[in-house]
Parts: sequence; C-alpha cells; structure tokens
Amino acid sequence: MSIEVEHLTKRFGSFLAVDDVSFRVAPGELVALLGPSGGGKSTILRIIAGLERADSGTVSIGEDRVEHLDARDRRVGFVFQHYALFRHMNVRENIGFGLRVADVKEKERRARVDELLALMGLDGFAERMPAQLSGGQRQRVALARALAPRPRLLLLDEPFAAIDAKVRQELRTWLRALHDETHVTSVFVTHDQEEAFALAERVMILNHGRLEQAGSPTEIVDSPATEFVAQFVADANSLSAEIRGGRAIIGALSIPAPDFPDCRSARVVIRAYELKLWRSDTEAIADVRRVSALGDRVRVDVNIDGGPAMFGHFPRRSGLLEGVTPGSRVALEVTSALIYPVK
Ligand code: ADP
Ligand code: MG
Repeated sequence: MSIEVEHLTKRFGSFLAVDDVSFRVAPGELVALLGPSGGGKSTILRIIAGLERADSGTVSIGEDRVEHLDARDRRVGFVFQHYALFRHMNVRENIGFGLRVADVKEKERRARVDELLALMGLDGFAERMPAQLSGGQRQRVALARALAPRPRLLLLDEPFAAIDAKVRQELRTWLRALHDETHVTSVFVTHDQEEAFALAERVMILNHGRLEQAGSPTEIVDSPATEFVAQFVADANSLSAEIRGGRAIIGALSIPAPDFPDCRSARVVIRAYELKLWRSDTEAIADVRRVSALGDRVRVDVNIDGGPAMFGHFPRRSGLLEGVTPGSRVALEVTSALIYPVK
C-alpha cells in the first residue's frame, strides 16, 4: 500500500511542530524519516497512525483517505522506541495479541505466530516472558506483534534507539533483510544518519517541522539541498563567508565560488574529509589548535588567520600530518565545498 501525506500541519498551542509537510511512500518501499530531536518526526508518524490529529492536511493509505478513521481502523502496525510488550504475557501471547483482539481462531493464530517466530529468528522463544529477553529480542517480538495482523503499513519510531551500538547494527541489517522478504510499506524514524542511510532506499530529512530534502542517500550526500542538510549528514564545518571576485573569503582562506554575485554573504559547508593541510612556513594560513586521535582517524582543529576555527579528518597514518602539532603553522586546501547564499 502507498502512503501519501499532503500539506500536513500540526501546532501544539502556538508552537508549529509540523509545517506543511508532503510526501509519498510507494507500495513496498522502506523510507527513513531522519532529523534532529524535536524536528516533528514522531508527530508525523502518530498522525499517520491516527494517534494524533493534524490541524490540516490529508493522509491517504492506498486510495483511502484516513483522517477520519480511528487508529484501530487504519490497519497500521507501530513499533516504538520503548518496548511496549505486555510484561505479564509470554512471547507467543504478545505476538498473537492483535489477532486475539480481532477474534482470529486459536488454530490460525498459532500458525501465524509460529510463522512470525521463524521469520524473526525467535524459534524456541515462544514461552519466554519479556523479562527473559535481551533488548534486541524484545524489539523483534514487538515487530512480530505489529506484523501479525498483516498491517497495510509499518511505522517504526526509533525502535533501536535504546539498544547498544553493536546490536543496533545487527538489527539494522536484519530489518533490511526482513523488509526485502515482507515488502510491507514502512516508515522508519531515526535521528541517526548512519542508520537511516544503511536501511532506507529513500531518506526524508526533517528539521523544525519542515521537510528539508527527500532523496536517496547518494543524492543527499552529493547534493544537499540546504545548509542544514549539508552539515547534518556529515561531520562538517559550517562557516560564514563573503563573496568577492568569484571567491568565497573566510579570513585568509579563499575558495572558488564562480556562480555567486559579489557582495553577497554566504554559508560555506566544508566536510571534515574535504580539508587538506600540511606543515608549511611559506604557504601557511592557519595555526593548529589541537590534534586528536579518533580511532582510525585523526581530527585536527585549526584557527584560520583572520577567520574562524575549523577542523578536518585525516587517515591515522597520513604522511601529510608529519610535524602537525598544536602551535604549528599549516597550509590549507579545500578539495570541495558547498556554498549556500544567505537569504
Ligand atoms: P521528534 O520525534 O522529531 O523528536 P516530535 O514530533 O516528538 O519530534 O516533537 C516535535 C515538537 O513538538 C517538539 O518540540 C515537541 O516538544 C513538541 N510536541 C510533541 N508532542 C507534543 C505535545 N503533545 N504537546 C506539546 N508539544 C509537543
Ligand atoms: Mg520522536
């Protein structure tokens, strides 16, 4: 089933939480809704599920307009960040809960639960109580419970956020494989850029209730539509510049900006991996402030002469870093920058 929302707007008092958001999710697609906390992601999901009412705008599931339907009549599966399993029910009873509510007969219910246990890799766990499961297993049970009544859509609100990093990565891979098997149209909410990009073929980026960009991970990384997107999806510097003579001037650093008229202020986003620097007495335009080891990378913070601070990431054994220590003078080169006019 497709999902289409058009011109969704939602205020809490005078606070605009969702600001004229429109998008469509194709049947069988898995999209991620990505953005910082407070951006309006959960509110949009809750409006689609019928747990919250929009002030204006429409929600369609397939051909049906659903704004006026109660949550239980929308046939939407929902998984939340916090395990919402029934603590006094075992795994089988949890997964079968929605089927029992729908008066599905015992035998059919059993078969469907068995099928889901197998699909979730939870064979042998049917009699366990939620307290006897790990966080990752609980979220798989929650997912099985959401899928049991064969929902038209699956909505996942940061389902792995409370799980530690290593297991979270495994769950990500597993969910992607599960989706390839079930093809239930899904919206996955996360504030984690890496999780969104690893999971979804299309990512929608939301900030302050507005949809900033929708596209494939590659499109978003290669051509971020806004300064916000550019700095949100990568470790990056976001700097103020003046445009003069076809160049963006940031203190002693100058970057080609051929398409901009003079006398215009701009914001320049320079990703940490697009900065090169090397020790030099003659070409130096910055002072090194700090050199920090980040596992496989090194972060170098510099002060541009007459300009702001910025940082770059370098491979740990990069020859360029020879002699680069706090206080040394360095030359800078920017291999690629994204330039946005200030409105
Ligand atoms: P996200 O899921 O992206 O973190 P939310 O959709 O939860 O964002 O919230 C968006 C904004 O709306 C936040 O600033 C939040 O405080 C506010 N908000 C959400 N729900 C309510 C509510 N029931 N009453 C008042 N404000 C709310
Ligand atoms: Mg949220």
